[in-house]
Amino acid sequence: MVDKVLKKYESKIPLSDGDIKILLGANQNEREKIFALARKVRERYFGNEVFLYGFVYFSTFCKNNCNFCFYRRNNGVSPRYRKSAEEIINAAVRLANSGVHLIDLTMGEDRYFQEHFDELVNIVKEVKAKTRLAVMVSPGVLSDGQIKQLANAGADWYALYQETHSRELFRKLRVEQSYDERMNCKKTAKSSGMLIEEGLLTGVGETADDKVHSFREMQRISASQVRVMTFVSQKNTPMETPKIPDFSGELLDIAIMRLLFPDKLIPASLDVDGISGLEQRLMAGANVVTSIIPPNEGLAGVAQSELDIDDGHRTVSGISDTILKCGLKISTPQKYRETIEELRYEYSDNRLQASGG
Ligand code: SF4
Repeated sequence: MVDKVLKKYESKIPLSDGDIKILLGANQNEREKIFALARKVRERYFGNEVFLYGFVYFSTFCKNNCNFCFYRRNNGVSPRYRKSAEEIINAAVRLANSGVHLIDLTMGEDRYFQEHFDELVNIVKEVKAKTRLAVMVSPGVLSDGQIKQLANAGADWYALYQETHSRELFRKLRVEQSYDERMNCKKTAKSSGMLIEEGLLTGVGETADDKVHSFREMQRISASQVRVMTFVSQKNTPMETPKIPDFSGELLDIAIMRLLFPDKLIPASLDVDGISGLEQRLMAGANVVTSIIPPNEGLAGVAQSELDIDDGHRTVSGISDTILKCGLKISTPQKYRETIEELRYEYSDNRLQASGG
């Protein structure tokens, strides 16, 4: 069955929901075939080049209580910090000098920055000016006016993960939050000229139908970067479990997303199982390595708050050998700029078509 679906794909026939479900049910032998095709598709669109994203998680304060998250409001054991503008900009410059192609400025939904929004806007402007790199902002849910301010400050990307597109599951994961408000923020970001990243969490009780629905939603909202991460149990949270996370579903999702989003950016996240899981994610068809974090600056990851950070493994030099081992190479800033310009162009083209223009 899987062979048939892959043949159909190679004949350029769009995959149906049923086809995607067949791929999601693939056995190990069949999975290897899906990974191989995903690599071929990546090669077709991106050659052998991958992009690197630097990550500055500058505030771990959050007003929300997502059940899966270590930094949820009610978790008294998660370390809280809020970096100053100077610390954030310096970390971004160091990351830029180390060779990343984008700076991802991420925070929990920290009331401080929501109330002192101009500070955040200035940080985006300064990071952009001092690094001359693309900037992604991951600030959580904002008002339309705030999103527009970030776009005007030069932010290229707005990342806001739904984690699931099943409303029922959303209510269990992102308690006390509005599904629609979150989706609408992405719409506003797009109409303000930013590219959007959408994300899924896997291993949280989702069904194959939920996954197919999520992939379709990601297509519908024209996400230019799509990511999937495996749920990792967090200490002192309602979803804490002794179960060891199984990353195999994430690898299959990456490969299927490569088939469904051939020309889009798909991250291999170091945040799930560190440097040891990078090779498998790249071999499944990812073409972005995130989250590269400068060591010894007191900056955390998200799902794995400390893994591989202070020993310097989550750095450009720490991942270079793995990239080479996969037959890939680190791309250039120029190529990254061209790629996001193409993604923007494609989007504006879609908009014209949708409006009949
Ligand atoms: S996932 Fe984000 S919004 Fe939810 S609690 Fe964690 S930091 Fe806050």
